[in-house]
Amino acid sequence: MDQIITPLHLTSAAPVIERVDTMLIDLPTIRPHKLSVATMDGQTLMLVRIRCSDGIEGWGEGTTIGGLAYGAESPEGMKLTVDRYVGPLLIGQDATRIQALMARVGQMVKENRFSKSAVETALLDAHGKRLGVPVADLLGGRRRDRLPVAWTLASGQTARDIAEAEQMLDARRHDVFKLKIGTRPVREDVAHVAAIARAVEGRATVRVDVNMAWSETDAAWGLPALADAGCTLAEQPVASAAAMGRLMRRFPLALMADETLTGPDSAFVIARDAGADVFSVKLEQSGGAFGALRVAAIAEAAGIGLYGGTMLEGPVGTIISAHAFATFARLDWGTELFGPLLLTEDILTEPLSYRDFHLDLPTGPGLGLTLDPDRLARFARNGFDRRTKG
Ligand SMILES: [Mg+2]
Repeated sequence: MDQIITPLHLTSAAPVIERVDTMLIDLPTIRPHKLSVATMDGQTLMLVRIRCSDGIEGWGEGTTIGGLAYGAESPEGMKLTVDRYVGPLLIGQDATRIQALMARVGQMVKENRFSKSAVETALLDAHGKRLGVPVADLLGGRRRDRLPVAWTLASGQTARDIAEAEQMLDARRHDVFKLKIGTRPVREDVAHVAAIARAVEGRATVRVDVNMAWSETDAAWGLPALADAGCTLAEQPVASAAAMGRLMRRFPLALMADETLTGPDSAFVIARDAGADVFSVKLEQSGGAFGALRVAAIAEAAGIGLYGGTMLEGPVGTIISAHAFATFARLDWGTELFGPLLLTEDILTEPLSYRDFHLDLPTGPGLGLTLDPDRLARFARNGFDRRTKG
């Protein structure tokens, strides 16, 4: 370790990281959330709390979709990774040198992007609080104060999804709907999408996420039918970037990369091979906010559109994403930062502000959130350490 890692030298005044704690928070969801890969009945957040010698603490979150159904990291695995491998690299280090710290972590811990994102978020939250500025300011400054938020209709039942869409329009909460399809035959899925698009025509836009469930031949039939039904965008209809590239521009709807986009390296390859019209940028997939900014820069250079994706994070993971997306030069396709709205229980003292089809970016220092210790204690799988000092 000592041969390849350059020690980060401390200045006398630098606050150092004293403790890195993790906890698993199990929260119920408002309804089953049906994807082609899994059905979620609850959500587990892996929270990281970093405490520093100047009394500042920062919070981060790692969350997955359906345990291990979507990717290689589970909440339990992330907890182990941070407890055993990432946390010890941070203890005693200068808490203000976030990029250098994350580079050190990157040298010693391969992959594990979700775990790294959670840790980086906690460092950014702490440093924003230390300087008295929102995290977006640490990332270059916000270009917008609120973000449009799409809603996912994922019950799989047409009438129920239409009723849910009408509720969201009445409440002025969402007017962009993403339908999760891919579990049924293509014709049935297209009929489902067409019925919903007809029901909300002129009042909302409809998109689909196939979560890679289609073969290329399924897609060659399904995509023009979806375009005819009024669908404007299809997310990851097929698994490979090469197949996406072959399907692009053949039909009048945009194709978005999601699962294949796993950070700056894959973003560069997809952009080079013209394998997407739009990137669904996800903080956790990108390894954190700085990685997401690099993905966005590649997209901008390649003329690829941007959309702010989610791993259905709770409030901490959602708001670090919002701070990053707020700095993007363009965000033509909006976001889907609705994760907290799927949960029936809040872990914040003040809920996030969703109104008028948007999420408001918090203005306070750091993430701009306050976690509620009583609620954390109630939902923590293995208890919650209330001590504020290490
Ligand atoms: Mg997706």
